[in-house]
This record gives sequence, structure tokens and C-alpha cells, in this order.
Amino acid sequence: MSGPLFLEAGRATLPEIRDFVARVPFAIVPLGSTEQHGPHLPTSTDTLIAERMALETARLSRGLVVPALPLGYAWVWRDIPGTLTLSFDTYMRVVRDIADSLDRWGIKAVFFISGHGSNPQPLKHALRELIHDRLGIRMLYGMYGGLKEMTAEATSKPWADDFHAEEIETALMLAIAPDLVHMDRAAPDYPPVPADYGRSELSMGDFMRSGVFGDPTPATRDKGERWIALGAARSAALWTGFLARHGLITGEA
Ligand SMILES: [Zn+2]
Repeated sequence: MSGPLFLEAGRATLPEIRDFVARVPFAIVPLGSTEQHGPHLPTSTDTLIAERMALETARLSRGLVVPALPLGYAWVWRDIPGTLTLSFDTYMRVVRDIADSLDRWGIKAVFFISGHGSNPQPLKHALRELIHDRLGIRMLYGMYGGLKEMTAEATSKPWADDFHAEEIETALMLAIAPDLVHMDRAAPDYPPVPADYGRSELSMGDFMRSGVFGDPTPATRDKGERWIALGAARSAALWTGFLARHGLITGEA
């Protein structure tokens, strides 16, 4: 049972993956999205955040980190250039196919870590309706951890009840890929919330202005580094507890 508890599948060879899965039959899947993030962040923002959170989570706990899925459920940005979205049904089937693949390798538990707020909706339904009754594989899913604490620590006021290309995402990106962040173009934007938002077909993409929802200007690399550590620590604790609850690991946290 000796050896590392963490491996990046996309950088590993067949014997390395075989050996790893035999010792550590757990996978972490980063789920991203390709969509507009305003004038100062790249369209790959959610994917890069999911990938980094997954890697740091695995480092603090355990798991085979598979390559990030760059396409998400991004219906709200469907009319905005730069967006590649999967339909709800397609997304569910992609998640089912990933679970089927991992199950065939002998993976016993999988943690889907999303960097995009809408992915957990089709994830939840895929898990319930397409995977749970067929496979013995245990599944945990959700956004990266620590978001409530990050929101409390952020100095800017959040937009309505969502966040996009604001202080948190900008800080995380300053830590992950500073060369892709254009702070000289970062500016606050708080589009007014239509009365029927969330209760009709109206989506953020319909009333966005710059593409930012919130204030990215207080973001710093320092906050980003701290929030990555926080997010990974919270996700790792959740994952370790989940594996223990299912009797897949014992004692040693
Ligand atoms: Zn985002």
C-alpha cells in the first residue's frame, strides 16, 4: 500500500495508472465550462479553476485526477460568442459515460468538482437517473469548496445571488494563470435584476452588460492563493469524509 495517493491521469502512462488504481481506486473529475467572463478573464476561466481545485484537493487527500471537461451546461450564455454549451440531456449522458469508463477501470468512488455554477444541476440528475441504479460506484459532486467563506472574505458586494467574473473568480485566476488576466480592463458591473429573473426564461446572458456580475477590482493574487488553499481544504475534507462513510478508507484521514 505504499506510493503516492495522487496522480494526474492525463500525464500518466498505462502502467502508472494501473498501479495507481489498484492502490487508490478513487477518481476526481474537474468539470469546467467555456463561456464569456467579461473583458478581463478568458473563456476557459471555469475550466482552469476546476482543474486547479481538483489537483489541490487530490494533493490534500487522494485520487486520480482525470483531464478537465471543458464543456459545461452553459445555457445562460448560449447566445454569447465564446460559449460552447452542452444541452442538459447531453451533459447528463456525458457524465454517465465518464462514470461508466471509470467503473470499467475499477474506480470505486468519484468526486466531480465543478468550476461552473450550473453544472451541478445536470450532474445531480445524471447521478440519480442514469448512474446510481446501474453502477456500484459512489459519487460526490458539487462546486469547489469554501465558496461561502470566500464570499464572506471578499471585500466587494456580490451581485444578486450569483457571481461571475467578479472578485472571487478574478482572484483565483490571478493565482492560476496571471498571464490570462487583464486587470487594466477589470471594472465593476451590477446589472439591474429583472423582476421575473429566475422565474422565466430570462437568463444572465439576456441582461448582461460587460459580462461581469460583481466587482473584480479588489482581486489580488494573494487572495487567490489563499482561496485555492481554502477551497481545496474544504473539498478534501468532504471527500475524505465521504470515502470513510462508505467504508472505502479507514482511520487515517
Ligand atoms: Zn466563471
